[in-house]
Amino acid sequence: MKFDPASNIQDLLQFGEYGDVNPSITDSATFTFMQANTMLETFHGEAEGCFLYSRHWNPSNKYLADAISAMEGTEAAWVTASGMGAISNAIMQLCNSGDHIVSSMTTYGGTYALLANYLPKFNIETSFVDISDIEAVENAIQPNTKIIYTESMTNPLLVISDIPKLAAMAHKRNIKLIVDNTFTPMIIAPSALGADITVYSLTKFINGKNDCVAGAICGSVDFIGSLIDVNNGTSMLLGPVLDPLRSSQILKNLHTLHIRMKQHSYNAMYLAQKLKKLDLKVIYPGLEEHPDHELMSRMMNPDFGYGGMLAIDMKTTEKANELMEKMELAGVGYLAVSLGYFKTLFSCSGKSTSSEVPDELQKKMGMSEGLVRFSVGLDNDIERTYQKIKQCIAEMK
Ligand SMILES: *Cc1c(COP(=O)(O)O)cnc(C)c1O
Repeated sequence: MKFDPASNIQDLLQFGEYGDVNPSITDSATFTFMQANTMLETFHGEAEGCFLYSRHWNPSNKYLADAISAMEGTEAAWVTASGMGAISNAIMQLCNSGDHIVSSMTTYGGTYALLANYLPKFNIETSFVDISDIEAVENAIQPNTKIIYTESMTNPLLVISDIPKLAAMAHKRNIKLIVDNTFTPMIIAPSALGADITVYSLTKFINGKNDCVAGAICGSVDFIGSLIDVNNGTSMLLGPVLDPLRSSQILKNLHTLHIRMKQHSYNAMYLAQKLKKLDLKVIYPGLEEHPDHELMSRMMNPDFGYGGMLAIDMKTTEKANELMEKMELAGVGYLAVSLGYFKTLFSCSGKSTSSEVPDELQKKMGMSEGLVRFSVGLDNDIERTYQKIKQCIAEMK
């Protein structure tokens, strides 16, 4: 069966009680019942279609969660107030004190900090490995390992995880595979490739407007149900629920994601090919010389390209900073962290989004201090943007 995330979203019949084509926003924290018994049943998770309290479920959040699980092809999803809310809750739901995690050493900086600095206080330890080295992953597994954690495309070096291989290894040992798919929605479907749980920062490509932070957890009905169990569910008890006003905005933006992903990918590929000709070291998985080009080609949905992220190596932080300042003045985009915005964003990874990762580890994972990461925008005329970047590079000392 072809993985067809855009059609899966399009096929949803979601409309409001007055036929409103955008489902109405449920602006309520609590919900009333005409029969006291129904309230009791809802509390026990037994009353179909009934809502109890918005920290648990809210109709607006349900519409967005249903649309995201349709996109992913998972049984269920739950939406959180941030990507970190999704990641921390998925992990904490699966791990008890004394458990162990094997994680890619290249992950989002906040995820690295959660695993390396925060979870040890609950006696949950993480081994960080080169996720491309399947043998190293296997060797890091311990009897108490509960999770293998990775990102489909890891930040900032755009390394691709071999999800089918990791899933097979995890499942042989009753370990869960969690994949953060923030960089590659629609392009890669981790759950279809064997991941047990897919997590998202909706803040990035999925919302695409840089006006809020949000996240999502996708998985089985059982797992999502366990997260919001009133007695011991991590999300129900820690409470990182998304605001329904935001849910309704993000749902509308989700419906244009397929068009945006194509344009992000087209523009990033264009820039990668052109910048390469300027004798720059360009990291982009769409280029044949990228070490994971073949792996990504095998796993991806070709309709949506190789994604909007690319990096160039300016060798030193000084050179990276000089280029970024010039590009901002020239109108290429903004010097800012984050990604998936309609305008191009760029930042020097070592000193920004990966600054939580110690210098030593940055070296080990092959990260240059002059690495400039681009989230390529939706520019209609990307040749014009390329000319601006080229001019900035030519003007450098
Ligand atoms: C931004 C990001 C996160 C964290 O998401 P927030 O919405 O900022 O909490 C997690 N993973 C990846 C890959 C990200 O880019």
